[in-house]
Amino acid sequence: MTTQTHTPDTLNDIRLAVRDACRKYDGAYWRGLDKAGAYPEAFVREMTELGWLSALIPEEHGGGGMSVTEASVILEEINRSGGDAAACHAQMYIMGVILRHGSPEQKARYLPGVARGELRLQAFAVTEPNAGSETTRIETTAVRKGDRYVVNGEKTFISRVAQSDLMLLLARTTPYDELTNKTEGLSVFVVDIRDAGERLRIQPIEMTFNRHTNQLFFDDLEIPAENLVGEEGKGFRCIIDSWNAERILIAAEAIGDARFFIERAASYASGRVVFGRPIGANQGVQLPIARAYAHTEAADLMRFEAAAKFDRGERCGAEANMAKLLASEAAWEAANACLDAHGGYGFAREYDIERKFRETRLYITAPVNNNLVLAYLGQNALGMPRSY
Ligand SMILES: Cc1cc2nc3c(=O)[nH]c(=O)nc-3n(C[C@H](O)[C@H](O)[C@H](O)COP(=O)(O)OP(=O)(O)OC[C@H]3O[C@@H](n4cnc5c(N)ncnc54)[C@H](O)[C@@H]3O)c2cc1C
Repeated sequence: MTTQTHTPDTLNDIRLAVRDACRKYDGAYWRGLDKAGAYPEAFVREMTELGWLSALIPEEHGGGGMSVTEASVILEEINRSGGDAAACHAQMYIMGVILRHGSPEQKARYLPGVARGELRLQAFAVTEPNAGSETTRIETTAVRKGDRYVVNGEKTFISRVAQSDLMLLLARTTPYDELTNKTEGLSVFVVDIRDAGERLRIQPIEMTFNRHTNQLFFDDLEIPAENLVGEEGKGFRCIIDSWNAERILIAAEAIGDARFFIERAASYASGRVVFGRPIGANQGVQLPIARAYAHTEAADLMRFEAAAKFDRGERCGAEANMAKLLASEAAWEAANACLDAHGGYGFAREYDIERKFRETRLYITAPVNNNLVLAYLGQNALGMPRSY
């Protein structure tokens, strides 16, 4: 639980400061990167130097000591400006696993460096080709040999590995068949990517959008035993603990996207004249934008409710999941209303609508698919039978 308090004024100050920092990274900047498939290095460096990416690291470890509510506003504003917080959001929250489950030595070794931006920890390798959403079925193994673990296996869709110094890895330390509780037997490790050499092969996956995601192949990669985070076999618990914060922050990004689309759509529809009047005067154009606006504002309330509960240290699984569901759907609705309002221009790269359209669709699918979010609600909030 954070001890930080925030008022509407401090949230507004964060909003204005982030908006100001994002101003020079305009549509042309993001468009150029999108075309080249390049990483937003200058943007990420500046956001790091300004301290925004270390917002969630407690002050005693050199960070901003902010609440999840405050951090969510940072990511929202990046996306609302037309940027793409997904390029760097993980630097903000992946460290939470070390913060909550790491030893005092691990916190001292990593967190101040992450806070200063000297260490990039923005990759978390969980997903595997054979397991997909069924994380407890992962097959990558970490076998203890003396003072080291030896890792073998394959991961897929692992983002920002080439833009990280450190990566967290979820690997199997007990064979699945030997477990009575299937959520045990998995462990989290810190992998120093700089030391991995040829034992870690990184193969980029070309995606619809400019996201730097990869297939990873581990071939007898050795990790010092001291890099185990938390207890051996309890890694699934460690990652579950980080899911609520991630979902709230992702919801805020989606709301940033939704507001980008709604503002662009309302502005364009008010100015574009066809048949002798602004197209926005036609209900076929105006009402879908207004509907997306209403859904965005509703999702935003759930995002702040989830964040407030998280910050008070209360259970917030249902709220965090609902915020992610509602915000991702509102962003997609806003994206479609905006694209429709722009007619053919919606597809022209210089308007940035088609780029943001591609980017925002992902929030429905990842980091967790909305089907699984709904299954969580059905089974945990409503007590219905489990489907898996
Ligand atoms: C751009 C991008 C970046 C990513 N970055 C990372 C990363 O950094 N680290 C990482 O570990 N992973 C990452 N992922 C992986 C992402 O978390 C996975 O895509 C996700 O976990 C689902 O796995 P899958 O794609 O194999 O889908 P599958 O599990 O095969 O699911 C396919 C479809 O079936 C549905 N489905 C499956 N089971 C059920 C069920 N029981 N009930 C209803 N529907 C079901 C799903 O909802 C989905 O619609 C990333 C993915 C993308 C696309």
